[in-house]
Amino acid sequence: MKKVILKFGGTSVATNENRKKIVNIIKKTINNGEFPIVVVSAIGRGGDNYSTDTLLGLISEKYKKNNKIGTDFLMCCGEFISTVVLSSCLYDNEIDSIPLTGGQAGLITDNVYGNAKAIKYDNNLINKFINKNIIPIVAGFQGINEELFFTTFGRGGSDTTACLLGYTLDATRVEIYTDVDGVMTADPRIVPSAKLVSKLSYNEIFQLAEMGAKVVHPKAVLVAKQKNIKVYVKNTMKDNIGTIISNESSNKPVVSITSMSNRVQIIINKKDNKNEYYNILDIIAKNKISLDLISIFADRQIFTISLEDREKFVELAHNYNIKFNIKDNCSKISLIGEGMKGIPGVMSKIYSTLVKNNIEVLQTSDSHMSIWCLVDDNDKDLAIKVLHEAFIV
Ligand code: ADP
Ligand code: MG
Repeated sequence: MKKVILKFGGTSVATNENRKKIVNIIKKTINNGEFPIVVVSAIGRGGDNYSTDTLLGLISEKYKKNNKIGTDFLMCCGEFISTVVLSSCLYDNEIDSIPLTGGQAGLITDNVYGNAKAIKYDNNLINKFINKNIIPIVAGFQGINEELFFTTFGRGGSDTTACLLGYTLDATRVEIYTDVDGVMTADPRIVPSAKLVSKLSYNEIFQLAEMGAKVVHPKAVLVAKQKNIKVYVKNTMKDNIGTIISNESSNKPVVSITSMSNRVQIIINKKDNKNEYYNILDIIAKNKISLDLISIFADRQIFTISLEDREKFVELAHNYNIKFNIKDNCSKISLIGEGMKGIPGVMSKIYSTLVKNNIEVLQTSDSHMSIWCLVDDNDKDLAIKVLHEAFIV
């Protein structure tokens, strides 16, 4: 029988009404002659009762920093709860299911707590249930390492669980159910008129996800791409086709616009740094601070770092006597589309659109399918709106 992975995000499992929708989607899959394997996230979001954030609020910051094993253990608990809650809904609808942890479902990971990677699969147990027509309900976002401790895949990691299971169980497709109609031309929370993207490539969605669009996790896309597994992104509450992610590109110069806040721009002038000017990037790399939007000129170097690394950078610069200028509260806007290759004037149109709207462009950069602009955080939403208007509407 053809296997299909169905993944439901936090809001999708949050209420009885939503869970009824999930039961219907599972029934529909079975009626199509396919076998569903279900992945769930923790119930709700932010401060909701059983959400991962709420659970993390129960332990101290110091513990979190120094006890990775315990912290990952706690972070897995939200998903345990939702597997059983959904299994109970299916039971009430006379559908047999079994709640499984990520480890029981066979996802064996490395030891990087909080950002683990699958290194092996053990499908024995999950296959026993599949062979008996019992639907596995798998706790998303987690695995187990070879020392038998729970590990987690990082925020949004349930998408990765879905694609890993699709990969190892040879599923025909992965369906990611969420609270929007699919991948949209921009985050609908910022651009309410954003439109559904009907198709885009693994590469396009990877860029979008990496650059801040929360809708699918970037690691998940890479896994699906390895075996060409089609990924559908759909709305739990609607019977729509959603977005199809495959090798086929959107062919659009700009298929979607996304953003990432909490970027910090650093400018290092040669005249202020006689001794270390040529070694600065090397010093930063050796100290594992990741850089972005790097522009090197004869007389200055400009790059951005994440807010998380700000303190570390300032300390490092102090230790090496590096003089720098800093601009806090920046946002990186990304316009993505494989069809932009070879089309002239995309960057100039972006620039003129922003300038016309009195938005200061702090920096730009581009690659074959992305253009990035750095703007002040306060300009971020307006920048996305006017660029959406110029390129998509
Ligand atoms: P889930 O809990 O179902 O995994 P997420 O919160 O991880 O849901 O992802 C869905 C959210 O992603 C949407 O509510 C939307 O606000 C946000 N989002 C950001 N960019 C986009 C985009 N380009 N298309 C669709 N949704 C987006
Ligand atoms: Mg998500």
